Amino acid sequence: MWVSFNHKAAIMKLSIFARLAISYLLLFSMLAGVSLFFLSHLHKFNQVIESIILDDTGQMEHTAQLVDLLLAESRFDRKYVLVKDEQLFESYQRARADFTALLDKIVREPLSPESTLFFENIKTGHEHFSRLVAEEMDHITAAEPYDSEGYDREKQRIANELIEMMKVGRQSREENVFRKIKGLREQTGGAARIAIMIFVGTFVTGALIAALITRSIIRPVNLMKAKTKEIAQGNFSGDLEIHSPPAIHELASAINSMCHKLQAVDTIKSDFFSHMSHELRTPLSSIQEGTNLLLEGHCGAVGKRQERILNIVAEESKRLIELVSVLLDLSKMEAGMLEYHFAKADLAALIERSLLNLMPLAEAKSIAVRNTTGLLPAVTVDAERMEQVFRNIIGNALKFTPQHGTVTIEAAVTEQWLEIAVKDTGIGIPRECLESIFTKFRQVVATTGEKVKGTGLGLATVKQIILAHGGKVWAHSQEGAGSSFYIALPLSS
Ligand code: ADP
Repeated sequence: MWVSFNHKAAIMKLSIFARLAISYLLLFSMLAGVSLFFLSHLHKFNQVIESIILDDTGQMEHTAQLVDLLLAESRFDRKYVLVKDEQLFESYQRARADFTALLDKIVREPLSPESTLFFENIKTGHEHFSRLVAEEMDHITAAEPYDSEGYDREKQRIANELIEMMKVGRQSREENVFRKIKGLREQTGGAARIAIMIFVGTFVTGALIAALITRSIIRPVNLMKAKTKEIAQGNFSGDLEIHSPPAIHELASAINSMCHKLQAVDTIKSDFFSHMSHELRTPLSSIQEGTNLLLEGHCGAVGKRQERILNIVAEESKRLIELVSVLLDLSKMEAGMLEYHFAKADLAALIERSLLNLMPLAEAKSIAVRNTTGLLPAVTVDAERMEQVFRNIIGNALKFTPQHGTVTIEAAVTEQWLEIAVKDTGIGIPRECLESIFTKFRQVVATTGEKVKGTGLGLATVKQIILAHGGKVWAHSQEGAGSSFYIALPLSS
């Protein structure tokens, strides 16, 4: 158990280069093994072919020549005995010399013990035959009577025996060749089977090694990819625990330490927001409460002038509390620290509710509000924040539209988006300011020079909320003719 763990740890420490080098080496050695196996088989194959060509077929050819020469010897000898022509005897001697020369040549070549014995026997037989011819020749030359028929019978017997022997030898050679070819066929069949097995083995091992190495690299990379996605979504908790090659392991450690630092920054940011919220809101609320107590006469009678001043203080501290809330909310959104509560919601109902809140303002300015949205598909949103968006945009439309104007709310559904448009017949926005109005504290100064109340934070907040929903917000406007604000929200959550 301990040994196998140690083994695993050692493998994990191998760099990507070492892993690739080892696997290539393994594959190359397997291929080298296969090549050696084939080379040795090829060598054996060559040896057998060589022995067939040089040994067997060579001897078969020589045996055939010997048979021809012996037949010629016997033919010339018999004719000489009959007609006593010297020329026939010379032809016999030539054939005999050729036979002997060929046989000597064969015996000088490297032969198997079996072949050596075979040719030695032929040599002995042939010498016997030559001796009989020489003896008969002596009788003929001395012109003395001898057993001519007896000599003829004996020579024929020996010649026939030799020819028969050589025929049998030739046949056994042919069988030998046949046996060798059969053996070769069996060997090549076996080699082909082994080759297929080795090929399949090499292929499977190669694929296995490649899969293991790829997995050991891809798996930690995928884990890191998932972790970075989590970090992008603001989740910094949990360390990456991966067994990987050193290079990737270092990267994982860097991601872990980055996570720890981000976590620390995150804590500092949340501390800052709660601290600021407490430090600013508490004294402002005290000022507001104190002013109200003074106004209500709890600390004695308040004169007209004092009442006017106290009203201004109360109104400004209320404005300041609102500003601090909006500013803190916006800062939280920008820092990605605001929590959204997403759920399926009916935007038409949210628009209705926002309109209800804003109706007093519309009525005060006799502005006609037309809501043509009708039934809308449900979308996944943070309902409270989305209502804040509508209150801001419709509120702006009412704020920047003079008396007796019109504000229209429309909706359109495309394949992927739900689009809401808020159009007014108000003062409009200069073309060069259309982009910047979504930046915080940007307020367009009206051509009249009149300052409209506001914080300059509304549209910046709208943009942050819509972006957090994966949506888009933009505006079209013509100065003096009115503005149109558009929000697009994705239909899929
Ligand atoms: P504010 O609190 O000033 O309304 P906003 O961020 O909501 O802040 O808007 C920024 C500026 O954009 C406004 O001060 C105004 O100049 C311009 N604006 C917004 N909506 C409209 C509109 N419907 N018509 C004309 N101007 C607008």
